[in-house]
Amino acid sequence: MTQTIPGLMTSAPLLVSSLIDHAARHHRNGEIVSRLGDGSLHRYRYPDCRRRAMRLASALELAGVQQGTRIATIAWNGFRHLELYFGVGGMGSVCHTINPRLHPDQIAYIIRDAADQMVFFDVEFTGLIAQIAPLCPEVRNWVALCGTHEMPAQSMPSLESYEALLATGSEDYEWPVFDESAACGLCYTSGTTGQPKGVLYANRSTVLHAYAASLPNAMNLASHSVVLPVVPMFHVNAWGIPYAAPLNGAKLVLPGRMLDGASLYNLIEAEGVTFAAGVPTIWLSLLEHVEQNSAKFASLQEAAIGGSACPASMVDRFHALGVDVVHGWGMTETSPLGCLSRLNPRRTDLPLEERRRILQKQGHALFGIDMKIVNGNGTELPWDGSSFGDLMVRGPWVLERYYGADHPVGEDGWFATGDVATIDSNGAMQIMDRTKDIIKSGGEWISSIDVESIAMAHPDLLEAACIAAEHPKWGERPLLIAVARPGASVSENDVLHFFEGKAAKWWIPDKVIFSESLPHNATGKVQKRELRERYAGQLS
Ligand code: AMP
Repeated sequence: MTQTIPGLMTSAPLLVSSLIDHAARHHRNGEIVSRLGDGSLHRYRYPDCRRRAMRLASALELAGVQQGTRIATIAWNGFRHLELYFGVGGMGSVCHTINPRLHPDQIAYIIRDAADQMVFFDVEFTGLIAQIAPLCPEVRNWVALCGTHEMPAQSMPSLESYEALLATGSEDYEWPVFDESAACGLCYTSGTTGQPKGVLYANRSTVLHAYAASLPNAMNLASHSVVLPVVPMFHVNAWGIPYAAPLNGAKLVLPGRMLDGASLYNLIEAEGVTFAAGVPTIWLSLLEHVEQNSAKFASLQEAAIGGSACPASMVDRFHALGVDVVHGWGMTETSPLGCLSRLNPRRTDLPLEERRRILQKQGHALFGIDMKIVNGNGTELPWDGSSFGDLMVRGPWVLERYYGADHPVGEDGWFATGDVATIDSNGAMQIMDRTKDIIKSGGEWISSIDVESIAMAHPDLLEAACIAAEHPKWGERPLLIAVARPGASVSENDVLHFFEGKAAKWWIPDKVIFSESLPHNATGKVQKRELRERYAGQLS
């Protein structure tokens, strides 16, 4: 029998503390710029961030926080939040990021479920904190992310300021070295069905994900990159950017709470942002602002789009402004990056049609992630670009089991994503729909994402969502809910005519309903469940 022999290389564990150590030591001038609540900019460099993160870890240790303890954050993207990522994760505790847009009862549930001992929050969420604090008696401390002189005028037991807490710590702290499988972060799914579930990230999975996210086929980061995560640090760790930026020594620009088109544009221009990441809704408002003001981007090279499908028209609009789209797919359960689609190298000469075709797919799996599509019996389907199936993924930064659960989510590490996808012969994956959003018309499937992508290209529409409406003959038929651009006069017929020649006849919606706006969930995705509750009976 043959036998392997052990390699003779050091086996230092992959810990998140090493990411900030690396940036502070090898990219000392790497800047971190944060927009604060009052609109002013705070700037410092990686060594400053590391010093303060260590001071925080030391202060937490003095306050009795132990390894494995869960520490919650309810905050926008900013330098103190970044210090929590590294201070808490670096000491072996768990940084639990919470989405402030969730219902207060849901936030309280999440805090109790995670058994968070401390909650750090932006001052603007003080009202929310006052609401949830009585529902979370186990929380020992509530810490406002501000200086002592900026404390909210709220009387609450065990309320203190971040800077006062930091002052109790020491910079002489040394990061502990522990097993790389130890948890460093926790994020709950948005819980569209049932209660939210916790996904507990490990140091190892987080560092590996940061490596993969940096690669040329992924975010293509380098020390000369200027990176703007518009995606919040409470939405799957801002897609790993707070870890990937220091891994590369890239400049990090943290936008705070001002995420409207004008504020984002000004920040991008002022800081020379080259790469920005966010959900399509965010980009819609940025594009509106830039186009209406006939503005231009001086530095922005790439906009990463994920969280929901990127409409074809968004590829065109960014291209017209000299910006390439990078289209990514992922989930809270996959840390989140699984697949990305990009034009590599930047192909300014590529015909628009071809550009759209490539970028409407979610693309190729990153090294580390494997994927397959299966039918209802679990049989793998061919990679021919047309067979639809349930998308399954596995890899070292994919969830094994939910926080608190006794059992793994799947067999052999395969995780059923709840998405329906095709994979083409070259390995590029395309999401057709969430399983629960796909429209089943007369036994055939219609992708609501494709219908929306066509509708969004209509010049008089701002946004559109397609849902399944009950139909007496076909079971379900597509129904479009559209938001007209302000001042535009567009009729149902105009919209339906627009589909002609762009989609198979039976994919064209049966009806268009105009609405003032669409409901979005806490991470900016259109809430189709709410639309179905409101409109599903419109064709019956
Ligand atoms: P979340 O865990 O809240 O980030 O949601 C993950 C889900 O968002 C995925 O399962 C997909 O349904 C959807 N999603 C993420 N990225 C994309 C994308 N690029 N295109 C289509 N759907 C996406």
